[in-house]
Amino acid sequence: MGYTWAWLWKRTPASMEECNQLHQLTTMFFPPRLSDGPDKWEWTLNGSKVFLVSDIKSHLANHRFSHSGYVFKWNNWVPRKVSILSWRAALDRIPVRIALTRRNITVASILCPICGFGEESVDHIFIDCGFAQSIWAAISQWCNIPPIFVFSFKDLLDIHVYMRGSVSLKKAFYGVVLVAIWCIWRARNDVVFNGVECSLQRCVGEIKTKSFLWIKNHSKGRLSWNSWASFNPDNIG
Ligand SMILES: [Zn+2]
Repeated sequence: MGYTWAWLWKRTPASMEECNQLHQLTTMFFPPRLSDGPDKWEWTLNGSKVFLVSDIKSHLANHRFSHSGYVFKWNNWVPRKVSILSWRAALDRIPVRIALTRRNITVASILCPICGFGEESVDHIFIDCGFAQSIWAAISQWCNIPPIFVFSFKDLLDIHVYMRGSVSLKKAFYGVVLVAIWCIWRARNDVVFNGVECSLQRCVGEIKTKSFLWIKNHSKGRLSWNSWASFNPDNIG
């Protein structure tokens, strides 16, 4: 006798990721294997079928905590709130629309609120989005570095490591990247919550002025607006 599952979901899958997860789940349960015996719980994490708390601990440690090994580099030339945003984004812990649907929070659309193309993930909003790409193009031009091409959000946080220049210059550029991420996120929130359209010119201006004020105040260098406007390394740090 054949059996089929009759699923009763609260809502239909809202993203490609959810569709894939549902497909994996249904594949895992097909075909159902039923026997005539009574129902019983079985612990399958180890061969002995005996429940052990230590098994759970090592299972979680192996699958959740130790796989990334990622260490965020803090930068004390920008306010802590600015670093914290990038730290949370690197851990995929900011409320982009894809993340909200993963937590079963209903959102009107999972598409990027800035461009309307592509699902709004951390990588999309800060890298793939046309708006973000224009921001990074403007920053590479301003800071006299080759065009910025990265594949993931964490790559953004490593650009300064591979650039030429003094330690201070690298730290200042890393500060610029963190401030740019902060400003892109603010521009995105302005679209979502205030209906304000993104402006490349306004956002780039904000990145330059905010990074100047913050880095000038937090570093001990003699930073002038003129040297900052041309990203002149001589007066940084
Ligand atoms: Zn977009």
